[in-house]
Amino acid sequence: MTPDQLRALVRTIPDHPKPGIMFRDVTTLLLDPEGLAAAADALAATVTDKPDLIAAIDARGFIVGTALALRLGCGLLLVRKDGKLPGETIAEDYALEYGTDRLAMHVDACTPGARVLITDDLLATGGTALAAARLIRRAGGLVTGARFFIDLPDLGGGAKLRAEGIEPISLMD
Ligand code: IMP
Repeated sequence: MTPDQLRALVRTIPDHPKPGIMFRDVTTLLLDPEGLAAAADALAATVTDKPDLIAAIDARGFIVGTALALRLGCGLLLVRKDGKLPGETIAEDYALEYGTDRLAMHVDACTPGARVLITDDLLATGGTALAAARLIRRAGGLVTGARFFIDLPDLGGGAKLRAEGIEPISLMD
């Protein structure tokens, strides 16, 4: 499957979740068996240095992260919306493209020195991925990079991640 074919599987919903936002909807890509496998394979192929853990961000990041973890043979670290995890957690607030929120992870999910790759479906302003990176670093983990199906480069998330020493790679802009 070509990058253009993959891109064509992402639907754009205008004015969601509020007027003026062009929402890039990956559910249509997920519905396509070849597209889903091709996206997972292509993203896995960008990981040349196998991490110990894949960190997957609630909720669509769980899909990307699980696919990568299974392909690469890594463990999966869930970064969840605050209040969802049963054990002792650490939390970080972050600004979203539309609003604010708080992410949490189990304090013992990441052993000090573990190499962790961050995953999500989409990179916009970078606030979400950077909150995940702060959590992983607070727990002693080393963030080795970040992977997304989609980057919205106009929103500047890639530059913000690079400024924090995190190289983002995406399948499409
Ligand atoms: P950021 O924190 O501004 O980079 O926003 C990225 C987060 O918001 C990710 O968890 C995405 O799932 C979600 N998000 C923002 N915009 C979109 C979109 O257009 N489509 C799908 N998810 C989005």
